[in-house]
Amino acid sequence: METKYYFDYNATTPTDPRVVEEMNKFFIENFHNPSSFYRKAGEANFAVQKARERLAELINAGSSEIIFTSGGTESDNLAVQGTAYKLKEKGNHIITSRIEHPAVLKTCKHLEKNGFQVTYLPVDRYGFVDPEDLKKNITDATILVSIMHANNETGTLQPIKELVKIAHHKGIYFHTDAVQSTGKIPVDVRDLDVDLLSFSSHKIYGPKGMGVLYKKKTIKITPLLFGGGHEKGLRAGTENVHGIVGMGKAAEIARLEMAEEKKKLRPLRDRLQKEILEKIPEVIINGDTGKRLFNTLNLSVKYIEGEAMLAMLDQQGFALSSGSACSSGSLDPSHVLLAIGLKHEEAHGSLRISLGKYNSREDVEKLIEVLPAVVERLRNVSPFWQNK
Ligand SMILES: *Cc1c(COP(=O)(O)O)cnc(C)c1O
Repeated sequence: METKYYFDYNATTPTDPRVVEEMNKFFIENFHNPSSFYRKAGEANFAVQKARERLAELINAGSSEIIFTSGGTESDNLAVQGTAYKLKEKGNHIITSRIEHPAVLKTCKHLEKNGFQVTYLPVDRYGFVDPEDLKKNITDATILVSIMHANNETGTLQPIKELVKIAHHKGIYFHTDAVQSTGKIPVDVRDLDVDLLSFSSHKIYGPKGMGVLYKKKTIKITPLLFGGGHEKGLRAGTENVHGIVGMGKAAEIARLEMAEEKKKLRPLRDRLQKEILEKIPEVIINGDTGKRLFNTLNLSVKYIEGEAMLAMLDQQGFALSSGSACSSGSLDPSHVLLAIGLKHEEAHGSLRISLGKYNSREDVEKLIEVLPAVVERLRNVSPFWQNK
């Protein structure tokens, strides 16, 4: 059965048709290299600059502070490695958290093999980093703090402003992975005062394979790619013009429509949470229910496997994620859910429901109808449920 009910917007989003329409002009009609001399190339260059301005406006940055990348993963890599290599004479210590996306965690693991030391801050049971903990772990060798804005699995929002103040007090750069928050809630780089911020196009109804690294004008990093001097020498390679144009359009739509989306989706998510808690016994909500993205609901259904629920829901046309989604193919429970203190079996029984702008009230009602039946069927054949 085809997917009729998509509840996995934190994994990716469909491209907005208005985005596709703008992109279409840059395949055949204007395929030109923005660096070339002739008029058509100038038009491509103009379109790239317009997109840069739209992206800057979304996060209240200057357009010269926007670096185009191939996605959230590359932005995270460029921020963390780029700072590490730039400042390696100054120090070799990086602080991050245990709940980061693999794009940050594995980059840090790689740096550990190359002479850097990394502290992975724990989080409490709601998923928050303790600012005091950050303070305590700063050393004279600390050059970078990288802590995500909104967690992709639980939606928990970190107190970034407070954390930035602590880092800056010691003159340390701050990067935040804001892939899940940008385009959903207001993200203002000047207000947050971060030095580096990553976001991604395909999480905000733009094309896949595009991202942005915001880099504050006053700071310097080392590039990962060398070549023709694009993006002020920080990311070489002929611009992905159609991708950039599409991401720019997506940013503009997000800026203008995010408040409306929140007004529509928050009550739907809250209704889903309330109904699930009422209809299904022994369910726990993961993450903080207050400081949380309005579209995200992460829960553990005790005594059954998330994967089994996903498979049965898939058969009925529902697409969502479980607690091992990010390491697909592996049966390791989510590092995020373990970090907030869930037992292995609770993490295995988790579901992530993430809503987006094409979800309707009917979709939500359908899930409220189907999920309790799926859980009951699985629990009826679960020895853990029978013997609890
Ligand atoms: C999706 C995601 C990424 C990776 O972004 P891509 O554009 O897919 O490379 C990084 N961080 C977070 C929090 C994400 O949700």
